[in-house]
Amino acid sequence: MENHDVIIIGGGPAGYTAGIYSGRARRDVILFEGMPGGQAATTDLIDNYPGFPEGVSGGDLMDKFKQQAYKFGLNIVDGLVDTIRVEGEKKIVTVLGKEYSAKVIIIATGADANKLGVSGEDEFRGRGVSYCATCDGAFFRDVPIVVVGGGDSAVKEALYLTNFGSKVYIVHRRDQLRAEKVTQEIAFKNEKIELVLDSVVEEIVGNKLGVTHVVSKNVKTGEKKQIDTEGVFIYVGTTPNTGFLKGIIDLDETGYIMANEKMETSVPGIYAVGDCRGKILYQVSTAVGDGATAAFASEEYLEGIK
Ligand code: NAP
Repeated sequence: MENHDVIIIGGGPAGYTAGIYSGRARRDVILFEGMPGGQAATTDLIDNYPGFPEGVSGGDLMDKFKQQAYKFGLNIVDGLVDTIRVEGEKKIVTVLGKEYSAKVIIIATGADANKLGVSGEDEFRGRGVSYCATCDGAFFRDVPIVVVGGGDSAVKEALYLTNFGSKVYIVHRRDQLRAEKVTQEIAFKNEKIELVLDSVVEEIVGNKLGVTHVVSKNVKTGEKKQIDTEGVFIYVGTTPNTGFLKGIIDLDETGYIMANEKMETSVPGIYAVGDCRGKILYQVSTAVGDGATAAFASEEYLEGIK
């Protein structure tokens, strides 16, 4: 078994920041990551992270975080953690069948895109249905695009998709968007964006080549409408990647990890940071704060001065 001071699970802004801080504290730290940079790396433009007045691409920002973490000695390894068990002060994780142990574990596993759960969604995934505009937007040049959802992700990514599509429909189930007001104002001014409010997508339809249209339904009038499109981007919230922690640490009823202001979970020495933790604001800026706090608090734990 490989032994370390600190194991970080997840390579997004929270995990990398914890790595920077623990590395600077001269700890032996290993970080396991699935998709480098996490969800933030798939965001086209982050324009509310301080220090970048012109905005910054999520991918570029996460590359910089990672370079900074390497500089302070963080060991970053590709691989998802399958299990975690606690033996007194020692915590053991398994990755691809191999065991690693540490006194401190910092969980930064983030959250994944929710599915809409409608007919055609799975069938046309990768052939017109996508959860990542940055990855797939450029495939839909000069054709109408449909975005489902009314939160920050849906509206921001719809704006990004106007760079490609001839038109971008935002289909949202209520009569008001949830996204920040400033983002809404920009969207309302964009001539390519058309809001389809009080409406849900009931079906995604296509043929051998891919998606051809969606069927939407107005939830107030019951009226159904066909919207011709080749690309459907779904942004209907996220679910935390915490399944492997059930029965080990306390989760809330929706699966988010319960942690206090020191990022401590119900198990001493296990911390939770970023989008996998229940909190009020899910942003790169708050993920950074979480990561720094957990690394600092874990130093107190390791030194036994808590
Ligand atoms: P979100 O804020 O939870 O929004 C999800 C949207 O999907 C809501 O509009 C919701 O409708 C809709 N929805 C949920 N389930 C649905 C269903 N089954 N059918 C149809 N519509 C459904 O998720 P998010 O936009 O991914 O954002 C997650 C967090 O990240 C938020 O805290 C957000 O502020 C943050 N974020 C910030 C930025 C930024 O740059 N500031 C960018 C992206 C994300 P209702 O409104 O009716 O509930």
